[in-house]
Amino acid sequence: MSEPEHHVVVVGAGFGGLELTRALAGAAVRITMIDKRNHHLFQPLLYQVATTSLATSEVAWPIRHLLRRRKDVTTLLGTVTGIDRAGKRVVLEDGGSVPFDTLVLATGARHAYFGHDEWEPFAPGLKTIEDATAIRRRILLAFEQAERETDPARRQALLTLVIVGGGPTGVELAGTIVELAHDTLRGEFRNIDTRQARVVLIEAGDRILANFAPQLSDYARKALERLGVTVELGRPVTQLDAEGVVFGDKRLPARTIIWAAGVAASPAAEWLGT
Ligand SMILES: Cc1cc2nc3c(=O)[nH]c(=O)nc-3n(C[C@H](O)[C@H](O)[C@H](O)COP(=O)(O)OP(=O)(O)OC[C@H]3O[C@@H](n4cnc5c(N)ncnc54)[C@H](O)[C@@H]3O)c2cc1C
Repeated sequence: MSEPEHHVVVVGAGFGGLELTRALAGAAVRITMIDKRNHHLFQPLLYQVATTSLATSEVAWPIRHLLRRRKDVTTLLGTVTGIDRAGKRVVLEDGGSVPFDTLVLATGARHAYFGHDEWEPFAPGLKTIEDATAIRRRILLAFEQAERETDPARRQALLTLVIVGGGPTGVELAGTIVELAHDTLRGEFRNIDTRQARVVLIEAGDRILANFAPQLSDYARKALERLGVTVELGRPVTQLDAEGVVFGDKRLPARTIIWAAGVAASPAAEWLGT
């Protein structure tokens, strides 16, 4: 039997791209899946990698392996940098290109620092495996450095972990970091009491989980506070650097800051000039 002529190119093997590819099984098309990473990532469990309860291999799987039984699908590793609409080709970073009849862009989202991209090195966001392992390293190194720090103020800054943004990711992170500090690591250090670690969740709005019903926001805030998280509401972060954050009129020295405050669409729309 000859191969179908119609060529569908899917860019992005996240939830969207994979679900579409699954739904096209049996259709009279051949499919090329292009992703800049070799793995599909289950982002909802990334916070558990960042807080040591899951290994990277438990949230990521090779795309090629996931699609191995689909003889109609070719998987390519490549970073798309543009679309040649007139020529109907996807343009790749390495100078290559892939022709398409139908194009599907499913490239997801990235962090947004609301005009403060300079904050990113001090406050990484959580979107990729690398983000999760970098955050994990920062959290664990803060405790290691605190163990050796003799200056009380510097030690307190090392033991202060700030999460900016009270959406689902910020709430999950705050809850698991405080459990890590107060339970998992308890008793493993000699010069610090990890239960003294402060986990502070800063939300600019007047409640966390703003997209949920108010009573659920309230429930979540109380649950976090019971766990030992300090929830700060109503004051946006206005300054952020290696030493800490400023929100409202308060400066909070903190050596570990995690950004969970905003996302923006991938640049795919720009490729299309729309
Ligand atoms: C920490 C976290 C927790 C979350 N928790 C939940 C939850 O509990 N429940 C829930 O419903 N949702 C949750 N989400 C949201 C959910 O993960 C996303 O809505 C979903 O992943 C979006 O799917 P997508 O296919 O649009 O994009 P993605 O899953 O982001 O996939 C995009 C794919 O495109 C690829 N790509 C991007 N740019 C290029 C390029 N230029 N060239 C080639 N490939 C490219 C990427 O490598 C990636 O594989 C969470 C997200 C995060 C970050």
